[in-house]
Amino acid sequence: TYPARRRTIADFILRRRVPLIYAVNGASLKLDRGRTLVLLGESGSGKTTLGRLIVGLERPDSGRILVDGEEVPYVGNKAYVNSKLRGKLQMVFQDPSSSIDPFMSVKEIVSEPLTKLHLSKNEVMKAVNEALELVGLDKSFLNRRSSDLSGGQRQRVAIARAIITRPELVVLDEPTSALDASIQAQILNLLVKLQRELNLTYVFITHDARVAKFIADYVAVMYLGKVVEYGSADDVFNEPLHPYTQVLLSSVPTVGTRGLPKTIIGEVPSAISPPKGCPFWPRCPYATDACKAVYPQRRIIENREVYCHIYNKG
Ligand code: SF4
Repeated sequence: TYPARRRTIADFILRRRVPLIYAVNGASLKLDRGRTLVLLGESGSGKTTLGRLIVGLERPDSGRILVDGEEVPYVGNKAYVNSKLRGKLQMVFQDPSSSIDPFMSVKEIVSEPLTKLHLSKNEVMKAVNEALELVGLDKSFLNRRSSDLSGGQRQRVAIARAIITRPELVVLDEPTSALDASIQAQILNLLVKLQRELNLTYVFITHDARVAKFIADYVAVMYLGKVVEYGSADDVFNEPLHPYTQVLLSSVPTVGTRGLPKTIIGEVPSAISPPKGCPFWPRCPYATDACKAVYPQRRIIENREVYCHIYNKG
């Protein structure tokens, strides 16, 4: 269903015969304070759109996102200005080179979320210094331009900007994938440390199952805009139920195994014309006629949600 203005846009799209694409459809997830939910999947699975919806950067056509019982407002709405959640939801983007202005100083970048909070200069500087210290940067960085920093330092600055308002929840969109392997490990360790110290709640977006294993408390595996499996990290990684999760995890090389890791056959289909039935059937070794005709219902198996016809018979 669409509210009036959205209906107009949808009508316009339909009249022009522009295909209507559902980037995320039917996702229903819960996350406890101080824990990490990983959204895991290949590119095109809807992870980033779901992350943007969670912090109010996108507006859902239907459904709600609640943080502490409060509905997340769209940042473009007037309701956002007076919302209790203003400043409490933050996002760190994949590539710090494009998410922060190269001509701004570190001080300007980190203090940006405080600009409309009517704080004194001293209060702002105190908060900036504290945020920099938390991410392992000292005062000597204050007046440096972000273009003079390394990729790892830029990502630390982006994280400082995200935590300066002491948020309830931070969405981290592939925060390490643009960095060298050694720097990736440093940033992941920093995120774990910050979560413990500030009791942060994370939604961590990644296509990398190794990163997911390191940081996740819960995992939602996504495929073509849908959550196909959702459960605790221990359950999902130790015994993946959905065939897509199984191939995704078996494509990760592990110490002690011989031979090459398995690769997933084919590519994620286009969201413009998704396959009928289960969207994974063109790549699934277990696909049956039922899979090609009907989208699988949700099954709960020992606290895990899974969408696959294999589990229909219990
Ligand atoms: Fe494979 Fe069918 Fe399960 Fe989809 S529903 S993952 S095609 S077995």
